[in-house]
Order: sequence, then C-alpha cells, then structure tokens
Amino acid sequence: MRDENCIFCKIANGEIPSSTVYEDEDFRVILDLGPASRGHALILPKEHFADICELPDSWAAKVLPLGGKIGRAMKAGLGCAGFNLVQNNGEAAGQTVHHFHMHIIPRYEGGPDMV
Ligand code: 5GP
Ligand code: ZN
Repeated sequence: MRDENCIFCKIANGEIPSSTVYEDEDFRVILDLGPASRGHALILPKEHFADICELPDSWAAKVLPLGGKIGRAMKAGLGCAGFNLVQNNGEAAGQTVHHFHMHIIPRYEGGPDMV
C-alpha cells in the first residue's frame, strides 16, 4: 500500500528523484538531505508503513540485513570506521517523516564526520 500524501512513498517508488545508493524490489536507499555525517543514508521500504509498529515481520526481517550490507559497503567505499543504525518511532522520539525508515550514519576515525 502507498500513501498519496507521503513524500517517502514518492521517493521510494521513483516518482520524486533522489540520490539513490541502492535499490531492490522492496527497498530504496537514499542519501539524507540533512546529513549527520558524510554518506548518511536512509533505508525506505517501497510500501507505506508509518513506523516499526506498522511494519510487518516479513519486512522487518529484511531491514537489519540490508543495514548491515549497506554499512559494510560504506566501510569499504567511504572508508568510515563504523556506523550507526538509527530508527525513530513517533514524534516524541524525533520521527519527522511518518514513513518507516532506518538511518545508516557512517562514522569516521578521528572525525569530523562531515569531511
Ligand atoms: P526522522 O527524524 O523522521 O527519523 O528522519 C527523517 C530524515 O529524513 C531526516 O534526517 C531528514 O533530513 C530526511 N529527509 C526529510 N525529507 C527528505 C527528502 O525529501 N529527501 C531526503 N533525501 N531526505 C529527507
Ligand atoms: Zn509513505
């Protein structure tokens, strides 16, 4: 299911262009517009789920492996020393876009992160 009013539905399905770093049948991974570090990316499912409470187990089971895969690619390709997988649920927790997404934030040895 898609939500007509959801910007991440449009981005995930290619209706709005984005800096895509990975795509498969179920997910698009894009660069964050307001990055916390160089290469900060977001995993977006192509179907609309507001947050992890709505995300079916079958989708949830694919998210962490994809986060690990992208994180490994970041270490190899960007040279980051580590990365954070972060996922906010609800405004009280800092969620600003109500389409499930997972942040992948590369971290660099010695910083600063925005080099
Ligand atoms: P949240 O706070 O909901 O976990 O994170 C939303 C993230 O989406 C923020 O880091 C914000 O910079 C990013 N963002 C919001 N709108 C857009 C957009 O239109 N394109 C991209 N690439 N990132 C966006
Ligand atoms: Zn959506």
